[in-house]
Amino acid sequence: MSEKLPGGSRYSVLGGARSGLAVARLLADRGASVFVSDSAPEEKMRSAAIVLDAIGVAHEFGANSRRVLEADTIVVSPGVPSDAPLVKEALAMGIGVVSELEVASWFCPAPVVAITGTNGKTTTTVLTGRMFADARMSLAVAGNIGTAFSEVVGTLKKDSLAVLEVSSFQLDYIRAFRPRVAAILNITPDHLDRYEHSFEKYRASKERIFMNQGTGDVLIYNDDDEVTRAAVMRDAPAAVQLLPFSTRRVLNRGAYLSAGGVLTVVAGAKSHNVIAAAEISIRGEHNLANAMAASLAAVVMGVPPASVRATLRNFKGVEHRLEFVRELDSVMYVNDSKATNVDSVWYALRSFDRPLIVLMGGRDKGNDYARLREPVKEHVRAVIAIGESAGKVRSAFGGIVPVETAATMEGAVSAARGLAHVGDVVLLSPACASFDWFENYEHRGRVFKDVVRSLASGA
Ligand code: ADP
Repeated sequence: MSEKLPGGSRYSVLGGARSGLAVARLLADRGASVFVSDSAPEEKMRSAAIVLDAIGVAHEFGANSRRVLEADTIVVSPGVPSDAPLVKEALAMGIGVVSELEVASWFCPAPVVAITGTNGKTTTTVLTGRMFADARMSLAVAGNIGTAFSEVVGTLKKDSLAVLEVSSFQLDYIRAFRPRVAAILNITPDHLDRYEHSFEKYRASKERIFMNQGTGDVLIYNDDDEVTRAAVMRDAPAAVQLLPFSTRRVLNRGAYLSAGGVLTVVAGAKSHNVIAAAEISIRGEHNLANAMAASLAAVVMGVPPASVRATLRNFKGVEHRLEFVRELDSVMYVNDSKATNVDSVWYALRSFDRPLIVLMGGRDKGNDYARLREPVKEHVRAVIAIGESAGKVRSAFGGIVPVETAATMEGAVSAARGLAHVGDVVLLSPACASFDWFENYEHRGRVFKDVVRSLASGA
């Protein structure tokens, strides 16, 4: 049965990974004619081929042929570079180019809470989802987080909720995507390789989260982040309800810390004392910011403040984000493998009131370490340089603190242990991608944890 779809009746899906397959299925279910194309070799795409054959969707692997252009709309996967020749050609021909997020939103009967930012997306998305779940609301958590929006959108009803982690890549190709509640956590340099090395372009991409918002919608944003605040002040649609949050000053609306250190939410005419900051389980100023963003989203969507408080007390964070591993011989070991850029490390370094031994390095993404000099001076006892960029890490910090270079994770943990004093924290917070030594950041974090857990006491 075919229905009238916003993007016409013929779709090509570029990229046959998880979200590509999910959107192909979704469109095919709605009666569209769908073609999936992925340049990965056929051997790698065997299971995708089985799925697509089973649902009767045509496909090609190994290269993207011109058949992709025989469509009304092309759906691009996040892995497809924005300057891919086929995408440029499609745009020049007037073919619509959209992301999987856009397509899934066409079929979403539920209000959407969409969370973006350079850092903190996953933590805040999971935390927000937990707040709704703890309040017994029906919801799906999806997006950049592992489950594609297209996979779950069919399960949603009018009175449920979609909580989505949204990346700038997905926002690049939205058209009508309109979240009821949007949140921008921060905008700092990352992924600039995807934006012609232009921070302006990257920022503009993040701003798209609110471009279709209007009356009845809410925009939550980080008032402490100059770039985010200026973007919202300049470009947010006038009809949107603005809810800023700040960990540094008292605001007249949104979320902030009261003089007594209580996370306070002011939305509409109501003010709520949600929780004493000291009672929030996840640590660090950045996590206080994430907690504020999540609390605002929850309160505006009807979660009782007492329930928000209970969730903030119980939520222990997400794996690989300042994750406590163990305490051994009075030294704490913390896995922050997801810290793949400078800004996330900056926050990590300020999150402990004990001296740090930091494992840093990996595949460099054009990092500028200047911003870390101050916090390194203040909080770090020693740096263990790891991975491809060990030399760069050494020259960035060698003049400030002792730096040792390690050739393996075992070597790095053992060097850190050797340098740690009683009461210190050994922190993996690499500021880099992991693809030099590991498959991905999860793999890096697991290896670190395994090494740490295998240490014997008193050695
Ligand atoms: P994302 O999904 O945006 O990558 P995560 O929640 O996975 O965000 O966190 C990524 C890294 O950034 C972790 O090292 C985490 O400790 C750090 N981080 C989390 N929230 C923030 C924030 N609001 N600002 C800066 N860094 C943050």
